[in-house]
Amino acid sequence: MKRLFAAALSFVAATAFAQTNPFFNPSPLPLQAPPFDQIKDADYQPAIEEGMKRQIAEVEAIANNPDPPTFENTIVAMEKSGDLLTRVAKVFFNLAQSNTDETMQKVEADESPKLAAHQDAIFLNPKLFARVKAIYDQRNALNLDAESKWLVERYYRNFIRAGAQLSEADKTTLKALNQEESTLSTQYRQHVLADTGASAVTVDNKADLTGLSESDIAAAAARAKDRKLEGKYVITLQNTTQQPALTFLKSRALREKIFKASSARGNHGGPNDNKALIERLAQLRAQKAKLLGFSTYAAYVLDDQMAKNPDNAIKLMSDMVPATVAKANEQAAQMRKLAGFKLQPWDWQYYAEQLRKKQYSMDEAQAKQYFELNRVLEDGVFYAANKLYGVTFKERHDLPVYNPDVRVFDVFDVDGKQLALWYADYYSRPNKSGGAWMDTFVDQSALLGLKPVVFNVANFTKPAAGQPALISFTDVSTMFHEFGHALHGMFSSVKYPTLTGTSVPRDFVEFPSQFNEHWALDSEVFAHYAKHYKSGAPMPNALVAKIKNSQKFNQGHALGEYLEAALLDMAWHTLPPDTGLQDVNAFEPAALQRYNIAMPLIPPRYHTTYFSHIWGGGYAAGYYAYLWSELIDDDAFYWFKENGGMTLANGQRFREMVLSRGGSLEPAAMYRAFRGRDPIADPLLIERGLKPADTKAPAAPPKK
Ligand SMILES: [Zn+2]
Repeated sequence: MKRLFAAALSFVAATAFAQTNPFFNPSPLPLQAPPFDQIKDADYQPAIEEGMKRQIAEVEAIANNPDPPTFENTIVAMEKSGDLLTRVAKVFFNLAQSNTDETMQKVEADESPKLAAHQDAIFLNPKLFARVKAIYDQRNALNLDAESKWLVERYYRNFIRAGAQLSEADKTTLKALNQEESTLSTQYRQHVLADTGASAVTVDNKADLTGLSESDIAAAAARAKDRKLEGKYVITLQNTTQQPALTFLKSRALREKIFKASSARGNHGGPNDNKALIERLAQLRAQKAKLLGFSTYAAYVLDDQMAKNPDNAIKLMSDMVPATVAKANEQAAQMRKLAGFKLQPWDWQYYAEQLRKKQYSMDEAQAKQYFELNRVLEDGVFYAANKLYGVTFKERHDLPVYNPDVRVFDVFDVDGKQLALWYADYYSRPNKSGGAWMDTFVDQSALLGLKPVVFNVANFTKPAAGQPALISFTDVSTMFHEFGHALHGMFSSVKYPTLTGTSVPRDFVEFPSQFNEHWALDSEVFAHYAKHYKSGAPMPNALVAKIKNSQKFNQGHALGEYLEAALLDMAWHTLPPDTGLQDVNAFEPAALQRYNIAMPLIPPRYHTTYFSHIWGGGYAAGYYAYLWSELIDDDAFYWFKENGGMTLANGQRFREMVLSRGGSLEPAAMYRAFRGRDPIADPLLIERGLKPADTKAPAAPPKK
């Protein structure tokens, strides 16, 4: 009786809610694209709350089902649960990164710990786990297809990793740690965003900006105007330690000022300081790992990755340290000679650019005139995808977007049928987190009948009104990179939502994206997009050659700052659970010393206090993944080189064996099937300029 009454009440409430909240029902738009024109900030919190409530009810019904557990009534039923929560969370958490405001930040702070508790309520439900385990134990006798069987194994593993086998007391401790972690992570992210905005450098005189292009100066003036600093110039910061302006700014004093503002983020006291958060986060993650039966947090994370354990990841990196440091030192000596004085870290990019001009007579500013964003997109990124996979793209203007800068494209498959929707949000905004990323608004799943709605976000400088968006070759690579992730999401052809698209281990997920970067430099593709923004003239051959030749330039710096950050991540996450709170400013230099990579002129790509990947995102003990994936993507690219390059047949094979498979089988096995062997390191070393290009790849080992 009581139950019925409660159910009736919530039905009434739900009906009233449905009339006003756009998340309550699936979007009526094509492919269930989010109805951004209907969504208000006030819709998020009630939809998240209602979504959690509904999913808990669904999960309770599964856990308490009087029928014996079956794949259908347990695993498939779980896969179908939580549709409202998924719908709202996909939009909310993505926009909280790319287009946030005070209301959303408040909702994020309120809801993040509740969502952590919600996850725990599912994964630590003993009745539910008993059903999952029963199915897992008899999985070989169930006559499941390969994807379904793998799904059962994933479920079992996910429950164990979430703590399903812990005692009730330990579960209680774990739940508290999870909620604390999610609260601290959210605060960390919000601090970084706020402090990055607050650390923008204001310049009074145009003369101090000598070296920047006219369009960069115009953009800096426009940003000052936006901030009511009429007549001045504002240099905003990007998320990394090094800042693009340092490559060009002639004023050493201004370079120093920008560099110091960048490096001090989250580390200068005040409301946005991150040190206390970090100290506690590192400690609580170690405590979590111990509860779950691992010696360190990194050991816990890597147990479920291709690398398997921290030693394997650290070895891949440590092996590259000596050659990297040597390369960096060699270049530092050349730059010092050029400058005529002892360099500081804020001088590196500037003198690297001078040296590059001298050695390759190559000039970034000149090159940029051939990289107009829209041409790079349509004649480069899309063109390469068409050559390899036969897909085509058409911009549409009838779907609502969350910001006027966002563009929407239909993606059509070889047969002309719609495959996906793709959104691009390329320009930097004060309310957008730094960096570039891909995610989805809707994930592909045959079970749920959903096609993918995928997007890319970046932080390219928005040109002043009427100016073309001329980007650097680094930005070009970023576009190809993020689009590689997008293809992984759009080509997904799996049954279950848990296994969709990019739901693969961290150290595999950067493989499709970094693989796609290679095509930016493919001769045919490059010639197709690198045309002068005004005249449309192709880039002169001499400049093309210079760009290609200079790709290996400054690798000591690029790889050095990366290895520092990735090893720093490992140092923080290999702390034993009983070590107390660490002093951030003492820990960081000591860790770099320990890995023999302390380079005074080359600071880590991210200092600990603004390393959002590891404290605010999903890359804790996972920043090494870029290098691990690079090993695979270079090796895969060499397969293309050995087999006729950019052809539809090769692309089709790669799509079929890798890009469409999502997380539906073990990544190492997936790769081995594609390549005919495990990946080897030679292509990576050659591509990084750490090994001569004429190195013969060893023949494939005999198949085991
Ligand atoms: Zn990526």
